[in-house]
Amino acid sequence: MSNAVTTERVVVVGAGLMGTGIAHGFAASGFAVTLVDPDAAALERAVGNIGKIFADGVRLGKMSDGEAGAARARLTTQADLARALVNQPAALVVETATENMAIKVAIVREADRLLPAESVIASNTSALSLTEIAAATQRADRVLGMHFFNPVHKMKLLELVRGLATSDSTVARARAWGDALGKTTILVNEEPGLTTSRMSAMMGNEAMYMLLEGVGSAEDIDTALRVGFNHPMGPLELGDLTGWDTRLAVLKYLHATLGEKFRPCPLIQKMVNAGRLGRKSGKGVYEYADGQRVPGSGLKAR
Ligand code: NAD
Repeated sequence: MSNAVTTERVVVVGAGLMGTGIAHGFAASGFAVTLVDPDAAALERAVGNIGKIFADGVRLGKMSDGEAGAARARLTTQADLARALVNQPAALVVETATENMAIKVAIVREADRLLPAESVIASNTSALSLTEIAAATQRADRVLGMHFFNPVHKMKLLELVRGLATSDSTVARARAWGDALGKTTILVNEEPGLTTSRMSAMMGNEAMYMLLEGVGSAEDIDTALRVGFNHPMGPLELGDLTGWDTRLAVLKYLHATLGEKFRPCPLIQKMVNAGRLGRKSGKGVYEYADGQRVPGSGLKAR
């Protein structure tokens, strides 16, 4: 991550789990950032969490107190996207709102209307069609996917996604933004689920079927993948981190586009119905207290 201050401004739309990390990343890397969300509580939570990430960065010696303060000062919030763009040109809008095509289309249309011609619109969608999102704008060549990983400040991968019309120069600009953020970028052509979401949706779904079938406890299924395959996290722990509502939306889309092998496990739908969304709701496959997993709290599916 570079500490050089740039003159480029970035608008991040959606102050959830991912918007928080992406806004932090750009602010920490010298960009002026406006974080947009109509939900005031989400904005407040995001600003609080960004403050915590900066505080941890200072504690761990990654940046000085002064640098953290300057980076925090580069971040502003706004409830309304139009207000964030009118008379304040941005080089890049990163759309990272709820995984829903209608919401994303409305956001990119508005951004397209208000951004300077040369600016780029990126979507952080995990699985929706980038080409379809781009087609809602008059600048499809300057629209691409910038798919970040959670938690953004720890995960180095940035998957760039080329839609049907994305130009080489747009990809080059996005690679430069990725470099500025200290990310390792890969480029993939749009296919449902890209590389990573497709693989992790498949694993998380299979792990939920195993839980449902009583193959093993949640803890043992996660331990199998962590210890047996050296995965840093088990598939159920990862689902709790991602959010089962987001995971379910991805699976439904992959099921519709890639077929039967992605049929969402009914237990995921049940968990979402019950509000067990994962860490963000305090309960998913596991239960959490003060951000820590409660030992022995793994869901018993039967
Ligand atoms: P989230 O539910 O934590 O946050 C979504 C936020 O979008 C909410 O705060 C909501 O108020 C806001 N929002 C809804 N409509 C909006 C609008 N019109 N304008 C501005 N904000 C709006 O979701 P998340 O996990 O942060 O996911 C966001 C996006 O990132 C999704 O497209 C998801 O697929 C993608 N993604 C998620 C992960 C993950 O691990 N959770 C990883 C990579 C990509």
